Amino acid sequence: MDSTKKALSFDIGGTKTIYAIIDENGNFVTQKTKLATPDTADKIFDMFKNIIEENYTDIDIVTISTAGAVNLENTRVCSSTPNLPAGYPDIEFSKLTDKKVFVENDANCAVWSEYACGAAKDCKNTLMITLGTGIGGGVVSNGELVRGYTGAALEVGSMKIFADKRQKCTCGRYDCWESYASGTGLRNTAVAMAKTSPEYKNSLHKDKSPDELTTYDITEGEDKGDRFSELVFSQWHEYIFTGLVSLVDIFNPETVVISGGMGKFANVLQLEERINKESVVTPVKVKHAQTGNDAGMIGAALLGLRKL
Ligand SMILES: [Zn+2]
Repeated sequence: MDSTKKALSFDIGGTKTIYAIIDENGNFVTQKTKLATPDTADKIFDMFKNIIEENYTDIDIVTISTAGAVNLENTRVCSSTPNLPAGYPDIEFSKLTDKKVFVENDANCAVWSEYACGAAKDCKNTLMITLGTGIGGGVVSNGELVRGYTGAALEVGSMKIFADKRQKCTCGRYDCWESYASGTGLRNTAVAMAKTSPEYKNSLHKDKSPDELTTYDITEGEDKGDRFSELVFSQWHEYIFTGLVSLVDIFNPETVVISGGMGKFANVLQLEERINKESVVTPVKVKHAQTGNDAGMIGAALLGLRKL
């Protein structure tokens, strides 16, 4: 009989939920199934319950990667989750089944996945940042996940990078790192630069008013060699570097992994060179993530299976 322990592992996002059975070596035992995330907390609970019942005899644990901070017991979300329905943080996941249920924040799952079987394999000191609409972060230190006092550590997107209230963030505070260095940050940088840079007059996008510029305009422009877009990209990297070099000084990682939808646009070699020139705790390697869209599911499964 196969004695390898297995997790039914979910990655729940604002629009879709993916799940699969994953074993303790990080291998997929079943194919991934993708569903639309239901629009109420009750329907989400029922969705989980039904899928668990269908797979009950094949699994040892249920694991869930989710947005939001997760409590220290890994049973529930304990912060707001703007992209999920009202009532979602009230779900008590342990009530889904009599098997163990393990819940963890998606960025924490992702850094664990990269450490276990991705770009930072076997690097016991790894820092990961996820560049998307905002910025998420996770750290593995001496082979353990850093969770903080309440489980909410590494909210790196909310780090302030200026002290003089230059730009309001979508969260209502000023000068969060993510309002400069995320996908939203790339757009903010483009809008600000279009209003002052003489290069904008010769840009591919010159017929747009600066406020109409999108993140895609800039990634497309950079791809086509548009000078203005290149300047925006270079400034955006400056912002990524500014936050990252401080994080490297704080955590002294062996490897920095960059993931997320915008992560693929980051020039990791250039960032590595800059950090190794200016950080006081070098050397560090900077790499793109390798476990991609599976990172949440793999990380949740491997973290949960360790607890059995
Ligand atoms: Zn903010």
